[in-house]
Order: sequence, then C-alpha cells, then structure tokens
Amino acid sequence: MINYNVFPDCKTRKDIINSICEKYSFIKHSFAGKSVCGRYIDVLHIGNTKNRVLYCGGFHGSEYLTILALLKFFEECAFSMKNDTPLGGYNIGNFLKIRGLTIIPCVNPDGAEIALHGSGSAMKYKSLVEKVSDNTRKWQANARGVDINHNFNAGWSELKKRELSLNINGPSPTRFGGNFPESEPETKMLTRLCRNINFERAVAFHSQGREIYCSFGNNTPSLSFRLASAFSQVSGYNISNPEEIATGGGFKDWFIEEFKRPALTVEMGLGENPLPLSDFEDEYKILQNILCLGVVF
Ligand SMILES: [Zn+2]
Repeated sequence: MINYNVFPDCKTRKDIINSICEKYSFIKHSFAGKSVCGRYIDVLHIGNTKNRVLYCGGFHGSEYLTILALLKFFEECAFSMKNDTPLGGYNIGNFLKIRGLTIIPCVNPDGAEIALHGSGSAMKYKSLVEKVSDNTRKWQANARGVDINHNFNAGWSELKKRELSLNINGPSPTRFGGNFPESEPETKMLTRLCRNINFERAVAFHSQGREIYCSFGNNTPSLSFRLASAFSQVSGYNISNPEEIATGGGFKDWFIEEFKRPALTVEMGLGENPLPLSDFEDEYKILQNILCLGVVF
C-alpha cells in the first residue's frame, strides 16, 4: 500500500493517483474540470459504470484528511477487487461489480494548496487571500474566497441572509457563498458531473466533528435516513438534528433537492481544523466502516 502519512498537496496527489493507476489497469481516471487557478480536478472510478456511488472530499482547504481517506479507500478497493480479498469484512469486489464507486478526492484543489502552502498558491489571487486571512493554514474557500459548500443552488438565498447576519459579505477564508449560486468553476464541475452520471447516492466528506448529516427539506428520501443510521452504528458518529442543519448552499443539499436521491455529509475526525496528520490512521480506521457501507448498503 501507498504511504498516506503525507500532506496531500497537488503534486503528492498526482503521484499517489499515478501509482494507483499504474498498478490497477481497470481503474478509470479522468478530470471533471479545473479550479479557479487552473488546477485539474481528478475523478477516479472503479467497478460498474451504470450504478454508481459518488464520494467527494477536499471541499474545504484545511480538511485535507478527507482527501487522504478517499485515496486510501480507493486503493484498498482496487487491491481487494484484484486479489479477491475482503475489505472491512465485505467482499467489496463483488459489490463493486454491482455498484461502482466514483471518487473526487479533492473538489477544491486551490483551497487545499493555500491551506498547505500559503497564499502564493493562489497565484493571481495571492493579495486577495492575504487581505482576508492572516492564517492560511485554516483556509477553507477557493482561491477567490468563495466557500464551495455555500455556493450550491439549494436554499442559497436563505443561506446568504445568514452570511450577511454574520457580516460575511465578500471574499472570505470561509462561509462566503459567492454572488450567485454556482458562480465558481469547482461548483459547476460537480453539478455537471452529477447531471451527466446519475449517481445513485452521494457522500461528501468534511472534517471535523464525527457527525453525519443526511437531510435537506421535504424531498429527503427515507434511504438517506437509513444510510445515516447505518453509518452511525458502524462508526459511533452522531447523526445531527435535521432542524439545525437545514442551512442550504451545500453539495448534499443540492443533490437531495435536484435528484431526490440520498446524499449525506460525513464529518471526519475530532478537534480543530486543520486536524494533525498524526490523527489520520486512527480516524481512518473508524471512517473505513462508513466508506465500505456506503458501497455495500
Ligand atoms: Zn468542510
């Protein structure tokens, strides 16, 4: 297995993805689009191409453990499929023949780069980043200060009111939803991919809190709640109260509203972002149960 005890910046992700693809010829690697700064957004797929589950990570710059978790899980799936060995107690290879897995390890590559390497990674937006942030290690947004998970077209106007009530009315390290929904290429890339591919379900990985969110509005399918309850049972993560989470603007919210199919947000780890790299292995052990179940349930 690849060493995942590393900071998954652009170059490191590329090395990891290349080495997985070299080893397992049945993996499909493509790009879903480009970030504001022109960084490519990777998509990896394994298994059946008709019925697919989508896992996305790295929405928020400092939440890089989610990137590592998705890459590691993907490699484990490929290994199990090739060698016909179990993963997390399941014959995952057989399940993947029925329900394929697509991952976008890093939805917001500019944000991850800024959080890991500082404002210089924002290229022509360097001065904007420096103006609004004095600690780029905590950076969450994309390179021009829009929070991708506030930029989806689901309850966006209500979310905008809440942002304004918190005095967030322009580019910010976190929680600025942009001037209109889907204003950002990273958001558009994801909605376009989902409309093209018809995923059966989607899970967005964030950190932190060891929590699960599974509903948005009245269109939430009952399977979303059942998945959340199964995830909670295998991980000990708490399911967050639907009233508190009807905030809108997020990928999960949009997916539920648009397709009326299950979508969940899973908050990995516990502490303050950025969580230290040393938390990864232990947190991954817990999360692996959820990652397996999202495919086999
Ligand atoms: Zn997040």
